[in-house]
Amino acid sequence: MKEADAERRKPAVLFMRSCDVHAMKRLDEIYLKNRFQDGYYKRLREQVYIVLMGCRDSCESGFCVSMGTNCTEDYHWSLNVRQEGKAVEIDSRWAVLDELLEAWEETEVTVKEVTPDKAAENPVKVVLPQNCGPQLVKADFWKEYDSRCIACGRCNFVCPTCACFTMQDIFYQDNGRAGERRRVHASCMVDGYTDVAGGGSCRKANGERMRFKVLHKISDFNKQFGYQMCVGCGRCDDICPEYISFSACVNRISDMEKEV
Ligand code: SF4
Ligand code: SF4
Repeated sequence: MKEADAERRKPAVLFMRSCDVHAMKRLDEIYLKNRFQDGYYKRLREQVYIVLMGCRDSCESGFCVSMGTNCTEDYHWSLNVRQEGKAVEIDSRWAVLDELLEAWEETEVTVKEVTPDKAAENPVKVVLPQNCGPQLVKADFWKEYDSRCIACGRCNFVCPTCACFTMQDIFYQDNGRAGERRRVHASCMVDGYTDVAGGGSCRKANGERMRFKVLHKISDFNKQFGYQMCVGCGRCDDICPEYISFSACVNRISDMEKEV
């Protein structure tokens, strides 16, 4: 068995919104600073350069203002889009990337000092609970999700802060003695995630999985790293086929906390 060779990759320039830049900080925390460093992640991450795309208006489902992720200083360049995408203001440091500017020949490009736009308000607002005590963990309210949630895992797969992975073995057809062990995305909402030897499962009911996911995003990660995991991008609300809303769930938890 041998470890995969380090691929020679060109540096990657990623165009990201502020919430996603914050999400990458959470991934860095998990893969680089969580007891040991993940070498596979590290060698990709070192090659990443970030272009922050300003958000003049809020998206429909995001709640970045509530989560404090609507602005960031953690980027290499920035740009603002103007006139419905026909014009772009680019940070003057962009001048070094002439090839990219040429690719935008249809667009009016202004190179200048850019202050990235930031959404000042979102239509969705979230109030975080102060402390998710045992009474909330045991609340009957999670049982609602036993039937509503179909355990498809889509909310995990779109979440920019979900970092769980599992292994998949691939056997080559032309040589049965050779193969690859690949790392693939895992979801705490789907069957099999908490299966243990002997046929048991730690969280069988879908409501229990929902409770685990939500409390991890707005409580457990915070206890370990000092800030919330969820960045309020709103993607999980958009993607759920059963119209289950993460933001509404968090607000319900806060309301319940006030009552107890
Ligand atoms: S809003 Fe949903 S998808 Fe976005 S970071 Fe929070 S939990 Fe993840
Ligand atoms: S996307 Fe919706 S239905 Fe699917 S696992 Fe997540 S909460 Fe459940």
